[in-house]
Amino acid sequence: MTTIADKLQTVRARIDAACRQCGRDPASIRLLAVSKTFGPEAVREAWAAGQPAFGENYVQEAVEKIQALQDLPIEWHCIGPLQSNKTRLVAAHFHWVHSVDRLAIAQRLSLQRPATLPPLQICLQVNVDGGQTKSGVAPESAAQLAHAIKSLSGIRLRGLMTIPEPSDDFTRMLAVHQRTRALFDQLNAQGFALDTLSMGMSADLEAAVQAGSTLVRVGTALFGVRADPA
Ligand SMILES: *Cc1c(COP(=O)(O)O)cnc(C)c1O
Repeated sequence: MTTIADKLQTVRARIDAACRQCGRDPASIRLLAVSKTFGPEAVREAWAAGQPAFGENYVQEAVEKIQALQDLPIEWHCIGPLQSNKTRLVAAHFHWVHSVDRLAIAQRLSLQRPATLPPLQICLQVNVDGGQTKSGVAPESAAQLAHAIKSLSGIRLRGLMTIPEPSDDFTRMLAVHQRTRALFDQLNAQGFALDTLSMGMSADLEAAVQAGSTLVRVGTALFGVRADPA
C-alpha cells in the first residue's frame, strides 16, 4: 500500500526534478494538497506527513472538514467555482480564494470577511485558453478587475490562477502556462506586486513549474482517483 506520506514524497520529488530542469529553487514553489471528496482523516494523514495547506472545491463539504479539523492550524484554500450565496461561508472559513472571477464576488468577500480575521488572500481565475464554458476572467479584462479589487478592504490580491484544458502534450501545456506567466509579468509591470501564480495540477505540474508557477494544486497524485467526476 502506498501511503499518503509516500505520495507526498513522490510529488515533492517531481517538483524538485522539474525545478532542476529549469534552474529554479524548489523553495519558490508551494504545494497545495487538493483534498476535495476525501474525508478529514485523509487530510489529517497528509498533515501528519508535513503538508500544511489544503485546497477544496465544494464549500459545504469544505466547511464540514474545516470544522472537523479545527485542532490543526491548516491553511485552507478555496479553489472551486464561487456562487454569491456561498461567499459568506468562504469569507468566514478560508485563508485563500483562488477562484475570484468577477468584481461582485470580490465585493461580497470584502464585505463579509470578519474584521477579526486577517485579509482573505485572493487570486483572480483567468480563462487563459478561451474555453467558453469555463469560469475565469478573460485575460484582456484581468488588469481592470485587479485594479478594482485593489481598493477593497478585507481582501488582498496575491496573483492569478488558471485551469487550462488538460492535454497529454507537454509542449502544449507549457505554451498555455507561459501565456498565464506573461499576463502575470504584465500585471506586475503595471505595479500590482503579485507574488502567486497558481497553476499546475497532478498531470501538468512539470510544465507549470517550467513556466513559472509558484503554487501547484495536486489532488489525484496525493490522494488517489476521486470517486466523483469533479
Ligand atoms: C480538482 C482540482 C485540482 C486537482 O486536480 P488533480 O488533477 O486531481 O491534481 C486542482 N485545481 C482545481 C481548481 C481543481 O478543481
